[in-house]
Amino acid sequence: MLDSHPITSGNPKDQTNTPLKFVYDFSEGNKDLKDLLGGKGANLAEMTNLGLPVPPGFTITTEACRAYLADGAEPPSLRDEVSAHLATLEATMGRRLGQEDDPLLVSVRSGAKFSMPGMMDTVLNIGLGDRSVRGLARRAAAGQPAGGEAAAERFAWDSYRRLIQMFGRTVLGVDGELFEDAIDDAKLAKGAADDLDLDAEDLRALVEVFKEIVRREAGREFPQDPREQMDLAIRAVFDSWNGDRARLYRRQERIPGDLGTAVNVCSMVFGNLGPDSGTGVAFTRDPASGHQGVYGDYLANAQGEDVVAGIRNTVPLAELEHIDPASYDQLLSIMETLENHYRDLCDIEFTIERGKLWMLQTRVGKRTAGAAFRIATQLVDQGLIDMDEALTRVNGAQLAQLMFPRFDLAALAEHGGEAKHPRIAWGIAASPGAAVGKAVFDSYTAVKWSRSGEKVILIRRETNPDDLDGMIAAEGILTSRGGKTSHAAVVARGMGKTCVCGAEELEVDTKRRRFTAPGGIVVEEGDLVSIDGSTGKVYLGRVPVVASPVVEYFEGRIRLPEQTPVAGPEAGPATAGVTGPTTGSAVDPGADQPVADELVTAVHRIMNHADAVRRLAVRANADTAEDAARARRFGAQGIGLCRTEHMFLGERRELVEQLILADGDEERAAALEALRPLQREDFRGLFRAMDGLPVTIRLLDPPLHEFLPDITDLSVRVALAEARREPQENDLRLLQAVHRLHEQNPMLGLRGVRLGLVVPGLFAMQVRAVAEAAAEHVREGGRPRAEVMIPLVGTVQELEIVREEAEAVLAEVRAATGEELEVALGTMIELPRAALTAGQIAEAADFFSFGTNDLTQTVWGFSRDDVEASFFTAYLEKGIFGVSPFETIDRDGVGALVRRAARDGRATRPDLKLGVCGEHGGDPDSVHFFHEAGLDYVSCSPFRVPVARLEAGRAALAERRAAAAVGLAAERVTTA
Ligand code: PEP
Ligand code: MG
Repeated sequence: MLDSHPITSGNPKDQTNTPLKFVYDFSEGNKDLKDLLGGKGANLAEMTNLGLPVPPGFTITTEACRAYLADGAEPPSLRDEVSAHLATLEATMGRRLGQEDDPLLVSVRSGAKFSMPGMMDTVLNIGLGDRSVRGLARRAAAGQPAGGEAAAERFAWDSYRRLIQMFGRTVLGVDGELFEDAIDDAKLAKGAADDLDLDAEDLRALVEVFKEIVRREAGREFPQDPREQMDLAIRAVFDSWNGDRARLYRRQERIPGDLGTAVNVCSMVFGNLGPDSGTGVAFTRDPASGHQGVYGDYLANAQGEDVVAGIRNTVPLAELEHIDPASYDQLLSIMETLENHYRDLCDIEFTIERGKLWMLQTRVGKRTAGAAFRIATQLVDQGLIDMDEALTRVNGAQLAQLMFPRFDLAALAEHGGEAKHPRIAWGIAASPGAAVGKAVFDSYTAVKWSRSGEKVILIRRETNPDDLDGMIAAEGILTSRGGKTSHAAVVARGMGKTCVCGAEELEVDTKRRRFTAPGGIVVEEGDLVSIDGSTGKVYLGRVPVVASPVVEYFEGRIRLPEQTPVAGPEAGPATAGVTGPTTGSAVDPGADQPVADELVTAVHRIMNHADAVRRLAVRANADTAEDAARARRFGAQGIGLCRTEHMFLGERRELVEQLILADGDEERAAALEALRPLQREDFRGLFRAMDGLPVTIRLLDPPLHEFLPDITDLSVRVALAEARREPQENDLRLLQAVHRLHEQNPMLGLRGVRLGLVVPGLFAMQVRAVAEAAAEHVREGGRPRAEVMIPLVGTVQELEIVREEAEAVLAEVRAATGEELEVALGTMIELPRAALTAGQIAEAADFFSFGTNDLTQTVWGFSRDDVEASFFTAYLEKGIFGVSPFETIDRDGVGALVRRAARDGRATRPDLKLGVCGEHGGDPDSVHFFHEAGLDYVSCSPFRVPVARLEAGRAALAERRAAAAVGLAAERVTTA
């Protein structure tokens, strides 16, 4: 791991062959050196250079940490460098570290490039010892009114016991509980309720107890040498990079494990020197709403940890105006300076030591998703950033978060919280949102009840394609098995439908139409349940839900101050009465609709900008006219994937059964003829909803047996009928067909293009239905842009055969209808062989659409239906990958094939259109990859369309900025 971060990275001294510089004074760094100085160090340096009151200090680089972790020892030159910087610090402060009569004390704090709150170590008050503690007390008392000595004594001994406690725990590895227990014992002995009730004498006694704990537990004396304290603390911070907490946090937050941490050595200032001292945190604007104002907390006579630990109640920052008006005014002015300088919301930690304000930390602050959008546009309006910058300040994950309906937790609390609505399970948060409905245990009931206006939650052990009708009808889906890429999860995400899967504590009994939850809670069909797809929690009863105003906006149910549709990439000219792909919402809401609030307006403005800068077009995966219309409202510029198998469910299943059971050409032709008009109507609906925009229709893909009854159910039915001596001819034929079509590995079996090659007339029927629907749409005055797509092609010969047949059908329909129909014929690239021979395949394809679901499955050899539930958790825990390759494209493997196929395909046919229609098309990281790979469009579920639009805009900007940086570097080289 360490190899990927050579010890020379990022250090300005590298270029000059001089020895590496491991230590930077705060005055030597700046905010752009986060790789080297960590976030905290870089920002302390920046504030120092801005002339803000930062206690002097220095930063030891992440390179020093990486060298230490690689070699198990500090780099040889580090000690001397630290000595030199310490000497400068001592000279600046006018006292030496640990000086007996007036000790300089320092804090030693971790500070990685990315904030890892509380994950690594910090030691305060370094430099104190048995002698200097008395010097500190004397200095603290100096100049104080009479009677101040007792408080100063207390302060000094309290500082000392804090040092031993922190040092003992973090540096010497002593169990922290032992110190806490000793404090409790001291309070008990004194009958004191609060730490503050312990006086100097008590604390002096406690110091002795603490030293004894160290002696006993660590097998050594607490070091009295201040420099030894400092060196050991620095080493402990380096070591804490690889502590369990830090590693776990990094895995969760996807922070690389080989960055290392910087260490900040900073002269101590004290907020616990009396009522004219204190400590606090502040935000330059509200991290929840984004509004400017005075936000933060202050705690008088306290040190930083007291605020974080919540030992005493803080007061709102605004009260500082009355407590210490001069410091308050200075703080507000610094906050303004920082916000103007960083051009963003900053959060700040400060301390007031006897009326003097000190800045201890600042950084660009974390914020909620809504605040991110608001703040970005507020800063544009203040003239601090431009719209390009605003777009980089938000992301697709935040937008997605803003789009989900959610449980109203405030209302939940009002209604008695989880006591009123017991949480009965905690499964995998598979598809976000909040759904409430009556429990149903089969698709049939889900459809029936929803038709009569009931909201239902479909509950299954796991789902399969048979459940699709029920899933469409349900508000949400709950399963007791399967992970994030189980059928339920993938399909639900595709539909933008809430799903909790793998809720293993539930015993689902579909036969008896009920499930049992821990504690013997039984939920019967018709009982209300609430599922939270953002947390995986399942509740009994109805938890109140609030709709997302952002979705209302995309749906066109919110009026904007101004609505100006702008065409994005791939936009065809709009036909009469239908807007083309637009930015923001494609719908013009009526005058009686609610007006956009600040959040919706911010989303609208940023989406407009993303659309203006992006190069990638965004289409939707949609199988129904309704989905297509919604996708268009959400800004989709066409359909990238219509899975026609979804049109063969419900009542049409029987027709497919007839096709499968057909005995001879005549019966087969009759079955196909029965399906054709139904398909034609389906396609007309899509062409109408997407008038003027491309509609990619994929020919039938899944193994045929998916349309037949379950082998076990059918065998039982046949056996029972035989036992009754009432054999059913149809069932017997069905059972034979099920046996005939049964496959050990159906995903690698008779599916995709293979079906078209062995079931005569099937693909021809579908192509004819497409062409006829297009012709009818033309006659209606519409502009159909049909694209027919062949799935699971592995070699150009397969495609050539299907293409020849399709072209013949198209010619026939053209002749019969007299319409000049333009229908593109292309293929999916979803097998490694297809990707490797893309140059040949392109000879028979007008377009490629990468099916990255199957491509991931076949490249890795992972069954997409099984792996998440079986071993992915172990893989994620072992760090084999940080995120499932079914969620985010595996750039090195699957991605490499995509790049190669795109390159080879375009070499054969430069105008080859390239898109992607796997789940990855709506994943933010993957969208960036597809942009970089030069694809023309991504296609994703309607609900992800706005996310993909936003990320496509961000990807275009990132590319532009990278190119500008390269240009700048080249210019520098030329001028040098
Ligand atoms: C794919 O494989 O990526 C794809 C879109 O097809 P499906 O998920 O229907 O197999
Ligand atoms: Mg596929």
